Amino acid sequence: MAAIFRFPVLIALLVLGCCWVPAAAQELDPYQQLRDQMVTRQLMARGISDARVLLALGKVPRHRFVPERLAAYAYDDHALPIGSGQTISQPYIVALMSEWAEVKPGDKVLEVGTGSGYQAAVLAELTDKVFTIDIRPELVAEAEKVLRSLNYSQIKTKSGDGYLGWPLEAPFDAILVTAAASRVPPALEAQLKEGGRLVIPLGPAGRAQTLYRYRKTQGKLAEEKTLPVIFVPLVEPEGK
Ligand code: SAH
Repeated sequence: MAAIFRFPVLIALLVLGCCWVPAAAQELDPYQQLRDQMVTRQLMARGISDARVLLALGKVPRHRFVPERLAAYAYDDHALPIGSGQTISQPYIVALMSEWAEVKPGDKVLEVGTGSGYQAAVLAELTDKVFTIDIRPELVAEAEKVLRSLNYSQIKTKSGDGYLGWPLEAPFDAILVTAAASRVPPALEAQLKEGGRLVIPLGPAGRAQTLYRYRKTQGKLAEEKTLPVIFVPLVEPEGK
C-alpha cells in the first residue's frame, strides 16, 4: 500500500498501461473491427458455421491482399480487382469454399488460382500443408511477397498450369479451384485422395456458373453440394 504513496506516478502508469493494451492493439490493426463485422454480417448471417473457418477469416488481414488504393474496401461484401484482369473472391465465397473443403489440421491442400494469395492464407490457418499454383507469374510473385511479410512461410507457391495439378505433391486431401473451368480437370480428379474434397466452379466464362463440392468415393467423384456463382475463367488447354 505504501508503494502507492512512494511511487504514485509509476503505479499510475502501470495501471493505465494495463488499460491501454486493447486500445494500442486496435491502433496496430485498425481493420480488426471491419473484419469482425465481415464475419458476423457476411459469413455467419449467411450460414457459415465452421468455427475454424470463421476464426481464420477473422484473423487474416484481407486488406493486405488487395491493391493499396482499395484497402478501405477490402472487407466489403464483394470481389475486388487485383491486377492482370483477375479478382480476389468475395469474403463469403472464400469462407464457403474453405468450409466445403473440410480442411483439418495436417491435411494436404492444393489451391489452383493463387491470385492475391488470400485464399491460401485462409487455408494456412486451417492446416500447415498448403500448395498454391497460378498460371500468371506476376501474381505469384506479388502473392509470395505478401505471404512472406505475414509469415505464412508454410505455404508453397508455384507458377504454372494448375489444370495439370501439382503431381509431385499429390495426392491431396482437398483441392480448391478458384477460377471457373468447363469441366473437372482430369489431373485434379486423379490427384485427390480417396475421401478427398474437390471444390470447383464449373460453367462458361462470364455467365452462370455453379460451384460444386465433390468427394472422391470409391475412386469416383460424387457430387455433394452446389451454389450459383461467378468466377474468372480458368485457362484450359485447347481442344481438351
Ligand atoms: N484465389 C485467389 C483469386 C483467384 S482469381 C485469391 O484468393 O485472391 C483466379 C486465378 O486463377 C487468377 O489469378 C488466374 O491467374 C488463375 N488461373 C487461371 N487459369 C489458371 C490455370 N490454368 N492454372 C493456374 N491458375 C490459373
